[in-house]
Amino acid sequence: MPSPARTAGAADSGGMTEAKKILRETFGLREFHKLQGEIIGALLAGRSAIVIMPTGGGKSLCYQIPSMLRGGTGIVVSPLIALMKDQVDALRQHGVRAACLNSGMPYDEQRRVMRDLRGGNLDMLYVAPERLLTDGTLAMLGEIQLALFAIDEAHCVSRWGHDFRPEYIQLSILAERFANVPRIALTATADEATRRDIAERLALRDAKQYTAGLDRPNITYTINQEGNARRALLEFIREKHPGESGIVYCLSRNNVDQTAKWLSANGVRALAYHAGMDKDAREKNQTTFLREDGVVMAATIAFGMGIDKPDVRFVAHLNLPKNIEAYYQETGRAGRDGLPASAWMRYGLQDIVMLRQMLENSEAGEDFKRVEQRKINALLEFCESPDCRRRVMFAYFGETYDRTCGNCDNCMHPPETWDGSVAAQKAMSCAARTGQRFGAAHLISVLLGRDTEKIRRFGHDKLSVYGIGGEHGEAEWYSIFRQLTAAGLLAPDMHGGLGLRDGSRAVLRGEEQIFFRKLPPRARAKTRSGAAQAKPPPMLHGEDAELFEKLRAARLTLSREQNVPPYVIFHNAALIEMALAKPRNARAMEEVPGVGQVKLERYGGVFLDVIEKFLRARG
Ligand code: ADP
Ligand code: ZN
Repeated sequence: MPSPARTAGAADSGGMTEAKKILRETFGLREFHKLQGEIIGALLAGRSAIVIMPTGGGKSLCYQIPSMLRGGTGIVVSPLIALMKDQVDALRQHGVRAACLNSGMPYDEQRRVMRDLRGGNLDMLYVAPERLLTDGTLAMLGEIQLALFAIDEAHCVSRWGHDFRPEYIQLSILAERFANVPRIALTATADEATRRDIAERLALRDAKQYTAGLDRPNITYTINQEGNARRALLEFIREKHPGESGIVYCLSRNNVDQTAKWLSANGVRALAYHAGMDKDAREKNQTTFLREDGVVMAATIAFGMGIDKPDVRFVAHLNLPKNIEAYYQETGRAGRDGLPASAWMRYGLQDIVMLRQMLENSEAGEDFKRVEQRKINALLEFCESPDCRRRVMFAYFGETYDRTCGNCDNCMHPPETWDGSVAAQKAMSCAARTGQRFGAAHLISVLLGRDTEKIRRFGHDKLSVYGIGGEHGEAEWYSIFRQLTAAGLLAPDMHGGLGLRDGSRAVLRGEEQIFFRKLPPRARAKTRSGAAQAKPPPMLHGEDAELFEKLRAARLTLSREQNVPPYVIFHNAALIEMALAKPRNARAMEEVPGVGQVKLERYGGVFLDVIEKFLRARG
């Protein structure tokens, strides 16, 4: 009986041997990740594929290598013109014959690219969907040999996501006009509706779906409640990521500007990005963020879709994200290169009140509101949960994670909980007795028995709940109100007044126990000042760290000379390995991951010199 595995292996092995050779020699990498090998095998055999892999999972190689191996040119459809150039630059650095085509390019350059394309001199062509779909481009593609079509950011075809692009739907035409050319659609967005849309709308119903797990093991998740947001952020940056690239998401434009200013004033190199800025200023900031080391971008969520920068070391949220999907996607922009990275969030009662109010006041239909309501509840449960962050997040996406991760705040510093049934009763009866129309600030004043003008005006000092909350401090009461609001036991009205809900009664009557997270120990009010100094990656110490800085400086010089981002020359992972292994000749240098043949020729000398000099100086 023939073994099916062996038959498949034999059929694929020729192509796969070549594929591995390219992985090693061109890209300087050792092994394929598990799914990469399978996907490349499928494309080499002429089959189409749908690939759902988290950010940083290594999607690009899945179509780059088959584009190089199959006859003809691989056409890569990507929605973001701004990014194409960097992607093409990165490929050219490896000696791959890649180009991009978009209508914003000078006419001469467009002509040159088309000539190269017709002459069969391109392994890969990056093109925006609107350009691809013109009659002219389609006709031209009909005349040349095509290796494959890669449709990047394929979730743009779905109306469910917030990145919907109508042109993507028309890409189904590729299946009709180029029936024999394999197509591969790729995305990091994993939800069911989006997957279905990709298969349906891109005419990929018969294509195999390759789904990698959601986990981004190199990201450390931390979620803080209360406390001064900006101060906590600054403390976090100084402690964990001084001098490193990061994104800080804020809710409003005004908030973005303020945060950028404030960080700058405190020695962090920070820029702003939001839709209210004029286009030039916005683009300039984006370019600086991409090209320079260690810039922090304060931004609204308008920033980030398709930001391919691999060395974003942290993503911070100064407000609650919209839902868990958004949180996963936004934090996913950290640490694409696989090195340690952070997702950090801070939110408070006010954020919860706002999120719930926004939904209440929205004009949307009841069905939509119900779905959104569920998503908000899930988000708040996630944020408040003392359980492993990964476990809660993946459960939401329907993926089981039956262990604890050891790389989130709750795993590393398990929060303490306390029986807050009595405190909850006090807080809720205070809201009830005052007419369910006051916000937490006033309710806390009543509980603490304060003497304020407002309390006297409403006669709240005459109520039985006046002054019954002395056993907790103000901060603790805020934390209690936050947790009750997050759990939906209290709910804000249009003006932020907190009222009871269906579920409140049982707790109020003492029929249900309720547990709260303890307030974390007070954040140290360290006010170190001065510029944040860049810190070497955590795995480097002493001499190695010094050498790393020298290598980094050499990389910056090269990147400035060529006007490309530093990571296009070498990723940090490559520099780290150089700093550790200290290669002294080309052979040893070639062992460093990310050093392919072309890069070895181009840059090997420069970096070997840096290492040699460094070692000599040490004697
Ligand atoms: P995605 O597009 O899925 O976000 P990329 O294709 O940009 O991910 O790859 C992310 C990072 O992983 C890049 O730095 C890339 O060089 C690296 N990478 C990809 N495949 C491999 C591999 N097989 N071995 C080592 N590193 C890899
Ligand atoms: Zn965990």
